[in-house]
Amino acid sequence: MLLTPGPTPVPEFARVAMATETLHHRTPEFEAIFKNTRELLLEILDMPEALMLASSGTGAMEACVLNLTSKKSLTINSGKFGERFGKICKAMNIPNIEIKNPWDTPVSIDEVMEIIENDSDIDSICIQICESAGGLRHPVEKIAQKVKAFNNDIIIIADGITAVGVEKIDTTNIDALITGSQKALMLPPGLAMIGLSNKAVEKIEANPKGYYFNLAIELKNQRKNTTAWTAATTLIIGLGAMLEKIKADGFETLYNDTTARANATRESLEAIGLPIYPKNPANSMTTIYTEKANEIRKILKNKYDVNIAGGQDDLNGKIFRINHMGLVAPYESAWVVNAIEKTLDELGIREFDGTANKVFMEKLF
Ligand SMILES: *Cc1c(COP(=O)(O)O)cnc(C)c1O
Repeated sequence: MLLTPGPTPVPEFARVAMATETLHHRTPEFEAIFKNTRELLLEILDMPEALMLASSGTGAMEACVLNLTSKKSLTINSGKFGERFGKICKAMNIPNIEIKNPWDTPVSIDEVMEIIENDSDIDSICIQICESAGGLRHPVEKIAQKVKAFNNDIIIIADGITAVGVEKIDTTNIDALITGSQKALMLPPGLAMIGLSNKAVEKIEANPKGYYFNLAIELKNQRKNTTAWTAATTLIIGLGAMLEKIKADGFETLYNDTTARANATRESLEAIGLPIYPKNPANSMTTIYTEKANEIRKILKNKYDVNIAGGQDDLNGKIFRINHMGLVAPYESAWVVNAIEKTLDELGIREFDGTANKVFMEKLF
């Protein structure tokens, strides 16, 4: 049972949709497919423009930093992915200031405001909506609103790789909304997507940058339902099938089910004495702090066939993360919390009495 917060399992209908013969990408047949996927993508992202790139999510992060920063970026580091924005700036020779926090701590809005009020060179802010390293939710919408009220020209680059498809994101003040195929959108890895505001489009077109990730060239092509380079045709077909299905069920249904699963999982694990790690947990995953994380994961994998994620860097062996993104069936989440309770018993931490499953079922239904 693959329950890591990315990659997530690919449902059968999406695998079947992607089993068609390879189409040539410069054909009317593929352009029609591209158009359909692009329209659905604009809808789920809820932004005026959207791009699809043949890369993993990090490629879209690099593309946004490069194309949307002229002078200096403020990068928010509350974990591995926020740290990555800073590393991208360094690699691209773009000056950056970083706000660094422990991985359980969302960035303070006041700290962001203080920095931009005192440094007029900052023209972009790079932040995760959900920082997947510790599973925390940053107050992105509030930050974006305050920043735009202070200076509308500062571009807000939001990494929504574990947020798009998890919850409805208020994009009013967001300029670039990044996502990837292998998380909440339940596809194989290899496709990155970016929603863009009109302001972002203007900035990209006014000063084209880069080669493979030159977004001005991509905009010109993708508006005509084609791509600058060879399109990831199979993944674009898969994304179309996925978005059609999510839309048919209702986007809200996916968001509500994910939220319900996240709440029920959190409460059931707290009920058996396991503490939630982040101060403001996101709904894409449940992150538990425990010094026994590796022992627990090992038993889960070997005895209960459950693959959940651990922690990286300083959090290696100290946390585990359970995915809620995508079409996870209730019995799968129930199986996991029950298996965790059984594991705690085996490790002599807490005697099994079925509490986790009981609380999970009560909260979910
Ligand atoms: C998974 C993830 C990424 C990108 O990872 P890739 O491996 O490049 O697809 C970026 N940001 C967040 C928050 C993620 O969870």
